[in-house]
Amino acid sequence: MTVRPLLIRGGRIVDPSQSMDKTADLLIIDGKIETISDKIGGMEGIIEIDAKGQLVTPGLIDVHVHLREPGGEHKETIETGVKAAVSGGFTAVCAMPNTDPVIDGPAGIRLVLAQAEKAARARVHPLGAISKRQEGKSLAAIGEMVEAGAVGITDDGNPVMDGGLMRMAMEYAKSFNIPVADHPEDLDLSRAGTMNEGLISTRLGLLGKPNISEDIHIIRDLLLAELTHSRVHLQHVSTAFGVEMIRQAKNRGVQVTAEATPHHLILTENEVDGYNTNAKMNPPLRTLEDCAAVVEGFSDGTLCVYATDHAPHHYDEKEQALRMPQ
Ligand SMILES: [Zn+2]
Repeated sequence: MTVRPLLIRGGRIVDPSQSMDKTADLLIIDGKIETISDKIGGMEGIIEIDAKGQLVTPGLIDVHVHLREPGGEHKETIETGVKAAVSGGFTAVCAMPNTDPVIDGPAGIRLVLAQAEKAARARVHPLGAISKRQEGKSLAAIGEMVEAGAVGITDDGNPVMDGGLMRMAMEYAKSFNIPVADHPEDLDLSRAGTMNEGLISTRLGLLGKPNISEDIHIIRDLLLAELTHSRVHLQHVSTAFGVEMIRQAKNRGVQVTAEATPHHLILTENEVDGYNTNAKMNPPLRTLEDCAAVVEGFSDGTLCVYATDHAPHHYDEKEQALRMPQ
């Protein structure tokens, strides 16, 4: 089957790998970029897209998404998830394993890859669980999951509280040359919270999640990665102190990468005012000072990747009040 040539006209072409940022026309023939030029003439049978005012970039990669299959298909399937991804310009996503059942063995990894292949949209790179059923008690079948195609492990959503288990996970992950990704949150410090702990939570009468609940696990993970000489990836970093700890660890040579979400760059806890449940998320929106530190973290390379933490919920789950203290 021959594919018709595609001409994308007048977009702002941004490609950091080529140090390119300019407005131009871009011609694709047989799935490959043929020419980038100020003005490319039309030709017979060509498909033209007017991209004026739009960005034209290499396919974006989202390293943190929750596709709800298996078990949460009423929220999203892998097919609808990857359709949403390509609509937003993402051609590859990393799927988290906190599905139902949890992806803690090779069969789950194979299922995600098979469904993604069937959907034939964005590429899906699955992460497996750190612990069996994400219960934080014993390690999942890490080697078999890697063999089946897992690109990393994480208990995102149900963070590992047992430091000894986390150490073991890092040692195993190192032998399979994959990173351990962690949702840094000490649940004993944060479990009852529904928003950032601070002045606004106090005024609204809501229990908060303090920054320290995140900071403690960031420090733990950095020290464990340093001890085990393994790679750790810190997910959705949201605190100023956490960013600073990562910066210092990088300077010491710790193999750490870290992401933050777009909402933690630009929104603060003020959004929750008026009991706005749309602004409820985990980690919670924090203060202006934390936002500024996240921005600074990106500008000096402490944080290296924007990740959406795309996590669809069903309508009736969203239509609930913020949990009040018991
Ligand atoms: Zn998370």
